[in-house]
Amino acid sequence: MPQELTSYVAGRWHKGTESPQRLTDASTEEVLATVGSGGIDFGEVLAYAHKKGGPALRAMSFAARGEMLQAASKAIHAYREELLDISAANAGTTRGDGKFDIDGATATLSAYGYVGKKLGDRTFLSDGDGIQLGRTARWWGQHVYVPRLGAAVHINAFNFPAWNMLEKAACAWLAGVPVIEKPGTPTAMVAWRIAQILTESGVLPEGAFQMVVGSTGDLLDRLRAQDGVAFTGSSWTARKLRATPAIIEHAVRFNGEADSLNSAILGPDLDEGDESWRLFIRNVALDMRQKTGQKCTAVRRILVPTDRMAAVREALVGELSGIVAGDPRADGTTMGPLASENQLKSVREGIDRFAGSLTTVMGGSAPVHDKGWFVAPTLFEAANADVDVVHEHEVFGPVATLLPYDGSPEEAARLVARGDGSLVTSLYTDDATWMERAVLGLAPWNGRVWIGTAKCAEQTMPPGTVLANMIHGGPGRAGGGEELGGERGLLFYMQRTAVQGFKGHLDPAFGRPGEVTTA
Ligand code: NAP
Repeated sequence: MPQELTSYVAGRWHKGTESPQRLTDASTEEVLATVGSGGIDFGEVLAYAHKKGGPALRAMSFAARGEMLQAASKAIHAYREELLDISAANAGTTRGDGKFDIDGATATLSAYGYVGKKLGDRTFLSDGDGIQLGRTARWWGQHVYVPRLGAAVHINAFNFPAWNMLEKAACAWLAGVPVIEKPGTPTAMVAWRIAQILTESGVLPEGAFQMVVGSTGDLLDRLRAQDGVAFTGSSWTARKLRATPAIIEHAVRFNGEADSLNSAILGPDLDEGDESWRLFIRNVALDMRQKTGQKCTAVRRILVPTDRMAAVREALVGELSGIVAGDPRADGTTMGPLASENQLKSVREGIDRFAGSLTTVMGGSAPVHDKGWFVAPTLFEAANADVDVVHEHEVFGPVATLLPYDGSPEEAARLVARGDGSLVTSLYTDDATWMERAVLGLAPWNGRVWIGTAKCAEQTMPPGTVLANMIHGGPGRAGGGEELGGERGLLFYMQRTAVQGFKGHLDPAFGRPGEVTTA
């Protein structure tokens, strides 16, 4: 009998009334759960966040909110094995891929717990130094950030049901803003179980957290100036949601994290056998296999100096040939299925589309097993790096394309820019001058630039890993948004206000702790 996933709204579990959507076991196609959010009064949901959750969170200091985040992290971690099992079934993740999501989520909560403790007993942030505005220092200015009084609506993608939910929530809660979470439906079982754990744990104040499983109904139409939407998903959905009339009319903040045609660039100084070359091959293959390529930061475009193409092709095919696609619960499996039937359909269509303009080096859209949402790792190659399809279309699966370039950082940056904005570009070089030119050319089009070099090869985490203390997001197609980055992650949920007055009043009240002086 499939499990019924209810929504948690206004302090109670709500059973949807509309015809329910079905969630499956990604390897066996068995129906595991149903969801439906019909019948929810979204006016009540918002009011509950505004009247209960917001005031309760704002009454807490950053340090107290930080402790709350660490308690939440511990409460969820206690159910790690169960969550990994749910993820393996519903999202088709191998144990390693499940840990990437679930441990990433609890680690991010915990990291923001430390940020909160560091920020101490205050409930607002001072932004930079005070500024003398008058003839003397008596007339003074100071920028402050205070929590906004609305709700944070979090709409998340299916691919990281735990991390996506909790990396956003950590920032909102620490800023003092209540969360209304809407997980991606196909893999909502993991998010739903976490919601159950959180509500049962009692670590959050009443109203700080609600979860809508299924459609958000008229929630977005009800948002007003103090509310915000943090969205993760496709650029198509992002465009549609940010154009919601209420969002435009009331200047509701909207942060978009969308799809991205990320690139890996091999520098012309590297040869087979170099440590940085090996790192490049390993990381590209990892990005194709990990989460079956369903990672917003995964490499889609592999830029290789023309004279190194044959060697890179051979090395990558060697790495990818070892991948065993199967039920993640079976011994020997190294890559699970895609998360849903829709995903399988969309990835197969994407592969067929690419095959029309590119050479298929390995893989393709043919079925891998009789049952389940499986697809083969698929590597393409372009004779001309300017072929449009690779710079325009994201195939959200284990699919990437080799593109030849002339080895100059300017040409590499030009090709990366054709993706119209990316979350991350990784470059591999031991040449500091080439690296500097490449970074400056790439930075305007990327939220993050990751550099693989022999000097720190053994210490790096792969470029697809998003860290709590570094920003995540990217311009243009990548959504134009920004999340995380330590304290920076809180700012979306806070209002920056310039306060002007007498320094003797302002500085003790609002100056940066440790730098306060009196006039
Ligand atoms: P999606 O189809 O755009 O859906 C994203 C979220 O939006 C889901 O929760 C979806 O709900 C919801 N949604 C869709 N239409 C809506 C509407 N009219 N009103 C309210 N909510 C609506 O994307 P996806 O298939 O879940 O995720 C894959 C995409 O996400 C990929 O393109 C990937 O690159 C991108 N992604 C980006 C990042 C990043 O950080 N930049 C991270 C992860 C994934 P339902 O599930 O119920 O349809």
